[in-house]
Amino acid sequence: MNNLKKSIWFFDIDDTLIDTAGVNEIASEGIVEALEEKYGNEKSERIKVQFNKIFNTILAGYRLNKDSANANNQELLDESNSLLEKVANSQKLVIKEWGKYKKWSREVFIKLAMDKVGVEPRKAYVEGAAESYWKELTAKVSFFSGAIDLNTRLVKNNRPIFLITSSDARLQMRDDGQFLYKPEYSKKMKTKRIEQLRRRGLEYQGLSIGDPEDKPTIEFFKKAISLAENCLSKNLDLKNSVIVGDSYEGDLETPFTKMGFGMAILVRKNQTKLIKESDNLYSVGNLMDILKIFSES
Ligand SMILES: [Mg+2]
Repeated sequence: MNNLKKSIWFFDIDDTLIDTAGVNEIASEGIVEALEEKYGNEKSERIKVQFNKIFNTILAGYRLNKDSANANNQELLDESNSLLEKVANSQKLVIKEWGKYKKWSREVFIKLAMDKVGVEPRKAYVEGAAESYWKELTAKVSFFSGAIDLNTRLVKNNRPIFLITSSDARLQMRDDGQFLYKPEYSKKMKTKRIEQLRRRGLEYQGLSIGDPEDKPTIEFFKKAISLAENCLSKNLDLKNSVIVGDSYEGDLETPFTKMGFGMAILVRKNQTKLIKESDNLYSVGNLMDILKIFSES
């Protein structure tokens, strides 16, 4: 499958098209902005510092777990696991209804940061701070090299483009400190965030979000395919479908090995050239290098 003219494109967004993880600390300034009137600048700064500590520790633990050769950093893993236990403990109702908790909810991290600093978390401020964080993140996040150029070239070639992305886990806090997950609300908030990328030059026909079924389940990808088929008013030939993402397990493995997508492309932030990993599986740093795989006839 390397005929550009027949290709149909599915892109992950966060850390594939835009540098979401890279802008976390900058986005956390939004938390201070939202809270300082209520809690004062000094406490709000401390809440921000705790928020970043929680986010970075859980992210580091997640990356260590994925890279088992590195899993001897026991101290960091223990710290990350004890934070995750707190994250889970504030989602008893989510676990009861949905069978699992949401690991990356910024609302939960903010609430835990407030606990740590010793201010009473209130629903309006927890959710307001999360909203301000995501707003700041959306305003400040940058596209990766080649992302917009590739998008423009695909549009010029009349290629269908669909964005498929995980839930932001926009949870709602109750007065007792427990969180609720309402998929429609969470989805609405993420749609708003992603739609703003259009103004910065990203074009696409459809957006599929992981609320409630999320990556890497087959249901998540089936939902995206149905959306594409509706948009295009025809059945997709998955052999002509390309999936692009920054995580093999999260983004690529299910569509590529279980559903028959014709090509999978892994985006690695610091990679300098196009690498053929195996048949129809490639990795790139600059997204424009993807076009080298395709012929235009
Ligand atoms: Mg991603």
